Amino acid sequence: MKNRNQRPGTPRTRTRTLKRPTAPPLRSTRPPAADLHIHTTHSDGVCSPCEVVIAAANIGLSALAITDHDTLSAQTVARPEATRLGLELVGGIELTAEFEGREVHILGHFVRDDEPALVAATATLRRDRVQRLKGMVDRLADLGLSVDLTVLGRAFPRATLGRRHLAEWLVRTGQVAGHREAFTRYLGDDGPAHVPKPRLAAGLAIALIQGAGGVAGLAHPPYDLRELTLRGLVDAGLGSLEVAGHGIDARRGQRLRDWADRHQLVPIAGSDFHAGDRPGRWIGSITTPGADLERLRERAASVPLPPAGGSGSPSDREASAEGRCLAASDEIDRIERTLAEG
Ligand SMILES: [Zn+2]
Ligand SMILES: [Zn+2]
Repeated sequence: MKNRNQRPGTPRTRTRTLKRPTAPPLRSTRPPAADLHIHTTHSDGVCSPCEVVIAAANIGLSALAITDHDTLSAQTVARPEATRLGLELVGGIELTAEFEGREVHILGHFVRDDEPALVAATATLRRDRVQRLKGMVDRLADLGLSVDLTVLGRAFPRATLGRRHLAEWLVRTGQVAGHREAFTRYLGDDGPAHVPKPRLAAGLAIALIQGAGGVAGLAHPPYDLRELTLRGLVDAGLGSLEVAGHGIDARRGQRLRDWADRHQLVPIAGSDFHAGDRPGRWIGSITTPGADLERLRERAASVPLPPAGGSGSPSDREASAEGRCLAASDEIDRIERTLAEG
């Protein structure tokens, strides 16, 4: 809430001389650092993939990962820009999952964006999210509020629309006073218009990420996370853990680091950037040091990979991935049935 640039007691003369810092030159001399948790317009962020790449380059990061919710579509858009600016784009995703009855977010790093099983699972999740959105719009209609999904879709053409977009609509059309009211009265977890988000079983989310050659990590660990729960995720194949981020104070960060050490998880961090209006969560505000990025890369390299893009035809790659697709498809069918019934 507080603007830390304007602490009480700061002399006025000093405030007057403050200038917006100019961006450091590209490829700055800062030690390598990576922001491994960034959202774009392809999920619920406000900046395009190219914009986040440019921002990351301008502040001197050596690498970034775009980790949009349940979609890989930003990767192909961002990659040429990252290459042009000499920045490493780590293939990323953030999968919505469930573990022990609670929603957890599983990050994937160094994932290939053409792995059929992961691509299919994200397509299913996104389709189910559309159904969820329609369900919430119907509930809002029952409560006397209207949402024009066609217009909303035009306003956010690439986004996976969700509660945040609905709230934005309600505010912009004057049906609620602000976002807070949209959530407290209608769209909050216990609100009358809320429909739960489709989720993958955490074990499946981890398996899909590993199947795409990536390392699965737990994003923004819940405040009350128990080590036993973390252990369950490690047993399912978790390879990394966010140890710093918005809302993680130094003491908790240390505990998470201790747990990461104990369970051989690579400690990672990122800003979870969505929009410029969330202080402390701007691109590059929280980063993973270069040494940990290298550990993450090594961990990814140790995941058994299907034949790489250069060797074998696309059909060969599909055939090699078939086993994983089949394994995943049973679980996806089950989720589809559950959602259709629900
Ligand atoms: Zn998340
Ligand atoms: Zn996120």
